[in-house]
Amino acid sequence: MSFMPAVSINGQVIQKIAPPEELEGLLDATLFLRGPLMDRAQGDPEEAWRAIGGHATGISLIAPVQVHGTAFLEEKKLWALPSRPRADGILLEKGESAGSLRFADCLPLLLASRHPRPWALMVHAGFEGTAKGIVHHSLEFLGDRIQGFQANKTFAWIGPGIGPCCYTRRKAGDEKTALGLARLPLESWTDMGESIRFDIPEALRLQLLSLGMEEGRLFRHGLCTSCHPGQLYSYRAGDRRARIFFIVRSGPAVHNHHTWWENI
Ligand SMILES: [Zn+2]
Repeated sequence: MSFMPAVSINGQVIQKIAPPEELEGLLDATLFLRGPLMDRAQGDPEEAWRAIGGHATGISLIAPVQVHGTAFLEEKKLWALPSRPRADGILLEKGESAGSLRFADCLPLLLASRHPRPWALMVHAGFEGTAKGIVHHSLEFLGDRIQGFQANKTFAWIGPGIGPCCYTRRKAGDEKTALGLARLPLESWTDMGESIRFDIPEALRLQLLSLGMEEGRLFRHGLCTSCHPGQLYSYRAGDRRARIFFIVRSGPAVHNHHTWWENI
């Protein structure tokens, strides 16, 4: 369990999350990284779903408009395309619909467990959402919706995103920088004088641990989007529209519908 090696199929880079044994057959989580299918979709989830042949699977796709907030959706057909509710996280537990989120520097975060029943929460965690406490809100939401939720029995995957190597913000006169300094763990940022260097993946890791998750159940992808333009999309490195497309299904009905990418 962790991240499987990325594979290229006709130039399209695809990387799957390897579920732990207890979630095998109950969790399908796939990142469509850089490649012609995602170039064609230009960050539009309907186009991305069509480009990868999602319509042929019979699975409905939930694809919220992401607003750098802390609101979550539950898995309901009502929220699937063509509907586009505003949210930055999706709780998946039936396996009938797929959840999707898009990224180009912000970090995909996946939380999943089979206790007391299989579920997965996918999250859009950028600088702003992380500073606004999306990790804390995630665990609060899970506590409300999953009776018997236990942080210490939950797995977490922190996906590719902008690394500290490439992410600085102006120190003075920027409200978002001020929010980050006030709310992010001290160990996750460095004062460079005129600017602040933020380490968002590290902030996510520290927040998850501080909320009772265990180090051994936490996996980091580790690649910086801006440093790896051959494989990833980065807004800061010039990708204005194309996005990494993250698709997750979770729950007992996952095996009712098959996708060509589930066994790559
Ligand atoms: Zn970098």
